[in-house]
Amino acid sequence: MAELADRTVCGSIFEVKDPDFNGPEQFMPKCMNNLLSRRANGPLLIGCSAGINAGMQDHLKIDSERLTGSTQSHLVEWSGMLVHCAVIEPLNQLRQQAAEDGFDLRLCSSFRSFDRQLKIWNDKISGLRPVYDDNGARLDLTQLTEWQQIQAVMRWSALPGASRHHWGTDFDIYDAAAVDASYQIQLVPEEVEGSGVFAPFHDWLDGSVLAAAGFYRPYAKDLGGIAPERWHISYRPVAENYAAQLTIEVLAERLASADIHHKETVLANLDELFQRYIVVKS
Ligand SMILES: [Zn+2]
Repeated sequence: MAELADRTVCGSIFEVKDPDFNGPEQFMPKCMNNLLSRRANGPLLIGCSAGINAGMQDHLKIDSERLTGSTQSHLVEWSGMLVHCAVIEPLNQLRQQAAEDGFDLRLCSSFRSFDRQLKIWNDKISGLRPVYDDNGARLDLTQLTEWQQIQAVMRWSALPGASRHHWGTDFDIYDAAAVDASYQIQLVPEEVEGSGVFAPFHDWLDGSVLAAAGFYRPYAKDLGGIAPERWHISYRPVAENYAAQLTIEVLAERLASADIHHKETVLANLDELFQRYIVVKS
């Protein structure tokens, strides 16, 4: 999920340069990418760190640090972004197919850590970042109760620990061939629907290419919780396991130890928030 405030600065350049984002010390050696382009259900990767091997087996029990974006042990670099190691080959396949049809698939956003999401959350609650209503008008949070503030933020931003971007399986994408290098990506519906600049790319993906490569769009429709995000895709074979194992209990435990604004109200209403904003109904 992308934050509205981030949409004006969501160009890949800004995201990559973010100090909390895709730290280069976490990058795998380039040669590992060849090894990692095996199938996710292939044999263990000889010479890989324990974390990567465990990452390739994320159909089994996934530890809570990985579920809540509190570790990068299962991630590798793909085009300058950190992604789950099992997604390398599907992404390569999707990019190759896109290139053959004249599109240039790029990631605007991939992995985002718990700490990064926590900063976004606290900045929004405290007014350092804007929060908008459904019509794009900036809200004055001081006029709202804590509970109303939480709901207003969660329309656009995930609760720390509950972002699908914590997993490395979910990406905000765009077609670099449709715009010139100076274009500032907004990640707004007008870009991806109707006559929007990226609409042909997304229409092409929906033609069957996306599903055939194992991806889907968890925020395709507005169900009253999270606003629709056509640009957000998810690698289903791995992400569904993460989604199934991210329970209210795992989330509550992570949040309890975090310095998050409105913690008591969040924890007291976590069941409702979980059902409305975190569970993806398909
Ligand atoms: Zn997203």
